[in-house]
Amino acid sequence: MSAAVRNSLGRFATKRKPPPPLEHRAPDCSICGKEVDHDGDSFRCYDCGAAWDPTGYEMKGEWDEPDEVACPAAIEWFNTDRLGAEHESIRHVVDECYLPDDGHLDHKSTDIWQTWRDDDPRVIRKAGQ
Ligand SMILES: [Zn+2]
Ligand SMILES: [Zn+2]
Repeated sequence: MSAAVRNSLGRFATKRKPPPPLEHRAPDCSICGKEVDHDGDSFRCYDCGAAWDPTGYEMKGEWDEPDEVACPAAIEWFNTDRLGAEHESIRHVVDECYLPDDGHLDHKSTDIWQTWRDDDPRVIRKAGQ
């Protein structure tokens, strides 16, 4: 039964409807950051061509094309003079591109928002050579 109530403005109004049901979300792809799909067997990102076991959140995924050649590009994000000596331990941390070697310009690591190009001064290995 929906009872009429008076709201704080003195108006009669019906009670608010209950919030709609929640929807479970799948995890975000560890490469592109978009919500993955679940195909019944595994979590999948069709954009990245990757799949993950749905029971093992700490497990690495698999590529749909496991024999695809890796892009050779690599970067040291923190190798910059703006970093003081106290950060020397991270200066030479290397991030490698996760994309296949298909001639792309924007290299991509697991840092979802970061891409780089071969002309970045922190590049230690270019794809175009
Ligand atoms: Zn993805
Ligand atoms: Zn790349």
